[in-house]
Amino acid sequence: MLKIHNTYSNTIEEFKPNSENVKIYLCGPTVQSSPHIGHGRSAVVFDFLIRYLFFLNYEVNFVRNITDIEDKIIERAEEEGITTIELADRVTKEFQDAYSGLNCLPPDNEPKATETIDHIINFIEDLIEKGYAYITQSGVYFEVGKFDDYLKLSGRNKDEVISGTRVDLESDKKNTEDFALWKISKENEPAWNSPWGDGRPGWHIECSAMISKIFNSGIDIHCGGNDLIFPHHENELAQSAAAFENQEFVKYWLHNGMINLSGQKMSKSEGNIKLLNEYIDKFGGNVIRFFFLRSHYRKPQEFSEGLLEESKTTFKRIQEFISNVEANASDLSIINVFKNSMNDDLNTPKFLGEIFEIMNNSSNLDKKEIKNLKESIKFIFEILGFNFDIKDNVKINHEELTKFFNSFQINYDNLEQAMEEFLTQRNKLRNEKNFNEADVMRDKLKEIGLLIKDGDDNSWYWENS
Ligand SMILES: [Zn+2]
Repeated sequence: MLKIHNTYSNTIEEFKPNSENVKIYLCGPTVQSSPHIGHGRSAVVFDFLIRYLFFLNYEVNFVRNITDIEDKIIERAEEEGITTIELADRVTKEFQDAYSGLNCLPPDNEPKATETIDHIINFIEDLIEKGYAYITQSGVYFEVGKFDDYLKLSGRNKDEVISGTRVDLESDKKNTEDFALWKISKENEPAWNSPWGDGRPGWHIECSAMISKIFNSGIDIHCGGNDLIFPHHENELAQSAAAFENQEFVKYWLHNGMINLSGQKMSKSEGNIKLLNEYIDKFGGNVIRFFFLRSHYRKPQEFSEGLLEESKTTFKRIQEFISNVEANASDLSIINVFKNSMNDDLNTPKFLGEIFEIMNNSSNLDKKEIKNLKESIKFIFEILGFNFDIKDNVKINHEELTKFFNSFQINYDNLEQAMEEFLTQRNKLRNEKNFNEADVMRDKLKEIGLLIKDGDDNSWYWENS
């Protein structure tokens, strides 16, 4: 039985979704600037969750939004001298490249804020009608004092909230802690018509409106980084619970920990943000995924390029170990190691530790047992979204390969056939104890990015796949 940590109760709970079709909403990016490693973590750890739910035979309806209008987008577009649409389109593309580079499953629905304005306006009207929201010169605000359960999700107290709120821009609010649902736009700012004047939605209302529009009900899992618990998720919860009094908005709130750079919290103000797509290009999606797998999703995770190098080396061990088998759940005890760890609040580091111990002690297994072990490990890593299909991971340059294999008098039709002939040729040299020449062949192959593993199985793989 899967157990997961629910931020709302702050306990680990048995996962009992409302139906076999699990409804999941993940707060997506505000597309103001390029994705960094922290965005990658949120995408990948919840992709592990979704893939694991599929493995447990659930159906999943997964929605991740795009916030394409927001104060920061307006500021940034102005700085760059482009429109908010141009900026949002460019950054959205970068996020989509990152998600696919990390092999994250695409959402079933990816709504944009600017395409949900009508529904957002209806949602706000409903809140005004029910007495939870009020209109001022600068916009429409949610009156948090009207909602009894406010701050139950984050566990904060009202004084903390008041002292942390910027009031200068919204001086006509009734109470400091109230938050904006609709902001009247200034001149030259993007604006949509509304009953309260031309303006744009506040950030929090977007997610509430998208969830009610797409799911038309409460949801099973709401996830995001733990920097979103307050105010974003607290405010989402207040709005949705106020609008739909007899409905549970979210059954399980899941939050991932932040990425630290040498113990420092990563933030824009610290200026230590690295671009995610640069790391994907350099290390490949598998290595970045593996880096996230090594840490428990709720804990803070240290990040440095050195740690990525380390993940690359460790992942290569797995890749080598399973390089000559097909994925198959042939050893149930291994599959159970995986399930027990994942059922324990997605404890991926525990699972990795146990798998490595089993791999380290595998020398005393017989051939059949080793094969079952390898097949099962490959099976599990594929469940978790790792991609061992070289065709998807490596841009094959057929011209270069043809030239390379021709230099060994091998015709190149496809890589599998050419490598088979190459390895036969090399094994012949090794059998003749001509190790020097065999080594030269191996080194030349390495120059084009292909590695071979000596042993009885003649396996080979791409260096960066
Ligand atoms: Zn959200």
